[in-house]
Amino acid sequence: MIKPPLDAPLSLLHGYWLETRCRCKLSYTPLATLAERAGASTRLGEALPRLKCQTCGERPSEIALVDDPAAGASGVPFGKPQMRIPLT
Ligand SMILES: [Zn+2]
Repeated sequence: MIKPPLDAPLSLLHGYWLETRCRCKLSYTPLATLAERAGASTRLGEALPRLKCQTCGERPSEIALVDDPAAGASGVPFGKPQMRIPLT
């Protein structure tokens, strides 16, 4: 069991994605995008409470840190992430 890197700044987590589940969907956000929005020095643990679904506006009921679910292929359905660290 890997300890969630909640103290890590978002800039250190480039290449990883957040898997978020809310009542309307399961979605994936690259941490690079989160770093652009929240600031690269923002810690992961500080950014999580600010997450909201852009479709329904709810906070996600489940959040996990995963490696690249798209495996670099655009237009291809998401694959199964190899690494998954639950954050909620
Ligand atoms: Zn939603």
